[in-house]
Amino acid sequence: MGARVLLVDDEVILVATLGRVLSAAGLEVDTARSGAEALERFRRNRYDVVVTDLTMEDVDGLEILRAVKRIDPDVCVTVVTGQSNEEAGIQALREGAEDYLFKPFQPEELVLRLRRQAETRALREKVRRYESVLGVCTACSRMHLRSGPGGKEEWVPLPAGRTDPLSQTAPALCPGCRSGAGIPRGARGGS
Ligand SMILES: [Zn+2]
Repeated sequence: MGARVLLVDDEVILVATLGRVLSAAGLEVDTARSGAEALERFRRNRYDVVVTDLTMEDVDGLEILRAVKRIDPDVCVTVVTGQSNEEAGIQALREGAEDYLFKPFQPEELVLRLRRQAETRALREKVRRYESVLGVCTACSRMHLRSGPGGKEEWVPLPAGRTDPLSQTAPALCPGCRSGAGIPRGARGGS
């Protein structure tokens, strides 16, 4: 699968080598050699997973973790740290990282973990989409959606063949069908 990965480490050779291995494994890899560069890239592009070294000169891995989760709560983050710094890895988990990994590690192991995280990411997005459904019009089957956090509400056509997750949502009539069906405004749920 072509999951998009942002690889962050100030060790230039490691980033280049690892980047090649991940690319060869079919992942789409961008690299950043500093925390600042990583955050700049993250603001401009969409990534499924972020792999970041914990100890860097400018912005450290924990700061990157917090910043990217603030921008995109569904993104998966793995922090990489030395064996001697296990406490920092656990701290990263506490702050919402999906995983941590000790240096040195087998690139193949990272590939496996990243594939799994990309699936997690896709699932989270799916759940978020379903959660945004407020109801389905019982007449025309359009979904009543709230788009984005605190965003506007709208009625959109149901994707073809997608009825399964919607059976649990509140039945409703969209404004169009409500007027078309001749049901007076305010009659539903009234006295
Ligand atoms: Zn309708």
